[in-house]
Amino acid sequence: MRKSRITYQDIFEQKFQEWKRMLPHEVHAYLEHMREHLQAIDEKYAPLYAQASSSKKQADPYSIHVQSAYRIKEQLDNYVVGQHDAKKVLSQVAFYHMSHLKKELETNTINEDYIKASILLIGPTGSGKTLLVNTLSRILNVPFVKVDATAMTKTGFVGDSIQDAVRELYYMSEEDLSRAEHGIILVDEIDKLAGGSRDDYISNSVVTGKGVQQELLRPMENSMIDLFSQTNIHSIRSMIQGGEIENKKISTRNILFILAGAFEGIEELILKRHRKEDGHAIGFGGKKLLTVQDVSLDAIQPADLMEYGLIPELVGRITYTVPLERLDAEKLFQILRDAQGSISRQMEQDIHDATGKKIHFSDEALHWIAQEAARFQTGGRALTEICHRVMNELLFHLPSLDLETYTIHEDFVKNYLPETYSLIVRPHIQQAMRQFPIVAKYVDWDKGAIDYLVQKLVDRSIVSIHKYIEDFMTSWNPIIHKIALEQDRIIITDEILSLYDQQTDTGNEDLFSLLKKKQDVAQYTITLQGNV
Ligand code: ADP
Repeated sequence: MRKSRITYQDIFEQKFQEWKRMLPHEVHAYLEHMREHLQAIDEKYAPLYAQASSSKKQADPYSIHVQSAYRIKEQLDNYVVGQHDAKKVLSQVAFYHMSHLKKELETNTINEDYIKASILLIGPTGSGKTLLVNTLSRILNVPFVKVDATAMTKTGFVGDSIQDAVRELYYMSEEDLSRAEHGIILVDEIDKLAGGSRDDYISNSVVTGKGVQQELLRPMENSMIDLFSQTNIHSIRSMIQGGEIENKKISTRNILFILAGAFEGIEELILKRHRKEDGHAIGFGGKKLLTVQDVSLDAIQPADLMEYGLIPELVGRITYTVPLERLDAEKLFQILRDAQGSISRQMEQDIHDATGKKIHFSDEALHWIAQEAARFQTGGRALTEICHRVMNELLFHLPSLDLETYTIHEDFVKNYLPETYSLIVRPHIQQAMRQFPIVAKYVDWDKGAIDYLVQKLVDRSIVSIHKYIEDFMTSWNPIIHKIALEQDRIIITDEILSLYDQQTDTGNEDLFSLLKKKQDVAQYTITLQGNV
């Protein structure tokens, strides 16, 4: 007979024999002890579980309201600045897909002929890829989960990550299977599975990356995934609370998969293909393509994605490839001023909730923040970083101000510039260093180097941290590689950066010996503490 509820002890029993085989004899008594202990816990909490499962709220029966593509796009416009092509494609796909789902749900049939679309969004960090898909899911009232493709290669449990994402849709839908089966999964950083790194020694990961792509194919199309997994915390909790998921499966047939990535450097491949095809490079509208700057991502072809390193089977599943634009200072300003849910709007709300006071940014202050943020080339992300710094300062000052409404002017924001930079430079260095994964673990940037870069940003002698680090690392990569083979740590100091700025000649002996110099460990510890 089937038991009404799974207990902690049941879960334990499933593993018990396996542990006994694996663990040394001395531990067996302890395992036996745990078994008794769990039985006691189960008995003690049984009435509570029973109550919890009986009071589980009955959600409204799931129904679908289909909105026109035009109406969906209109709502996306309120939240997402620019990115018109992406908004248009997403709205059209969503309309078509939701119409299909409604029909299936209402007629209780399965349309075997329906082929769902899969979309690839290509755009730099912070251009709004996640925001777009997240907002779309809210408009459509379906659950949304984002998974990071790079996390899949790191853990090595590819199947688990993607299956867990599917399970997550179920728990987000309050265990409503129909709703979960209509969810959206965004697989971000898909380009990192292509081995697009500049580091020559990364070839092992390329193999893994291709493996991950392969693993994505079946769930993207149509597969049945067990809702219960011994490694999924929600599954275990649900079972203990009496959720009947043991034999349930979730189908991915109608789940929309959206892939996203920055695909840095793909313009070079497009240009190369044009040259090969035509003998000379002619782009759209007969325009001559001379350099990568002339290349528009609109010209992207499946062949370019394959050349970049996506496997043909995956490329074959992509119905639409949509490029997103890099957000310039003007667009970032529009986000701050106009976009619903933007960081400036959230701040106004948070500060009002915390202090009862109203704040308002002047347009000059917003312009200034947008211009600063544009220098980091991380799109909307830098806006958040700068605004948070300003907000902390405001929260500190506001209670002592005798004003109900406070306007934040450019001067206020400017005052905190060096501090803002000190806070955000380090994560930006780390991010830029991800392009050099092999040496990154040997290279440290001390406090002097951070201060040096902050100063360069403040007096505008550099435009972007990313570009600076990229150039520095690219010109010194061979030497750093060589030193990394001998030493376990290379510390970049302000002295090194200043020498690099004076002469970037790779034959520079001073710089070489400075890089090679083993740093005093005591001094290094102090520097690190100084940075915390
Ligand atoms: P991506 O996924 O492309 O790296 P995100 O969608 O995570 O970027 O955006 C990072 C932040 O910047 C979010 O807080 C988002 O609100 C803001 N943002 C980015 N692009 C836009 C945009 N086009 N319109 C409005 N806000 C944006």
